[in-house]
Amino acid sequence: VPHTFACETDPSFVTVGNVIGCGEFGEVYQGTLLKKGKDNSDQVIDVAIKQLHTQCEPNEQLSFLCEAMALERFEHPNIIKLEAVITMTRPFMILTELMSHGCLRTFLHNHMEHQRAYPPVVLAGMLRGVACGMAYLSRLNYVHRDLAARNVLINNELICKVADFGLTLKLDDEDNENHSCQTFSQKGGKIAIRWTAPEAVAYRAYSQASDVWSFGVFAWEVTTYGEKPYWNLTNQQVLKALNEGYRLPAPEDCPSYLHHLMLDCWHNDRQARPTFVQVVTKLDNLIENSHLLDTL
Ligand code: ATP
Repeated sequence: VPHTFACETDPSFVTVGNVIGCGEFGEVYQGTLLKKGKDNSDQVIDVAIKQLHTQCEPNEQLSFLCEAMALERFEHPNIIKLEAVITMTRPFMILTELMSHGCLRTFLHNHMEHQRAYPPVVLAGMLRGVACGMAYLSRLNYVHRDLAARNVLINNELICKVADFGLTLKLDDEDNENHSCQTFSQKGGKIAIRWTAPEAVAYRAYSQASDVWSFGVFAWEVTTYGEKPYWNLTNQQVLKALNEGYRLPAPEDCPSYLHHLMLDCWHNDRQARPTFVQVVTKLDNLIENSHLLDTL
């Protein structure tokens, strides 16, 4: 895919610091980017730098570029912001805004040891942010396909942003399930069963409604402070249980309104699931009437 990025930058404007994570195609580093501000003044900003390892396969390279091309189109406070790319020289890099607290799953998991550090209204605020980001993606006709707490990042203001667009798909406007538009990711074959809607597992019917199912599982991860969905069940056992009507139980001390929201996201009939806009409205209502969240 020959593509010129408006945000292509020169490697001399980038400094690469410590490793902060490990991605599918290489390491993720903390670093800085020198860029022009609105008034044309120089500014140095903190960034996360995803580097494509130089020994990559052509399809990995394509997948890496596809993720950058998707990110380039998005502009929303709850979607990770693309700051720059380097695709003219090797190694290829994707530079995004630095999220100081890293991935939400690890963040919550670490806070679990400090005994459920956040009141439910704060957790509901995190869910609301992610639902807003997802509503935005749906409006642009994108499905994320890999929404999970490991793919949401959090900053020091506790703002959550959706990241990791390696599996993202643009749906055709006419036909809501365009299977011809495939990503080239290695992960393409390896879907995260525990987070994926049954119809998407069974016949790859990805839609906003399948992302809403994943959002329900994500909400369960958040309210359990990063527990593994369905614990030690195997993927096969998860599918069987779901098919028999089993659903993840309410997390310990979880307000029942939040568990009901999750159960709505897990309707077998995908038409019966709420849209992301409806999820945002529901969460707004709970946050405004925070006594409804008092049980935690
Ligand atoms: P995965 O195998 O999880 O799909 P990936 O190649 O898609 O990996 P990411 O999930 O985007 O890579 O990034 C890997 C890790 O790097 C994240 O879990 C997070 O810890 C860290 N990371 C990525 N981007 C950022 C960022 N903008 N700010 C802070 N940390 C980041």
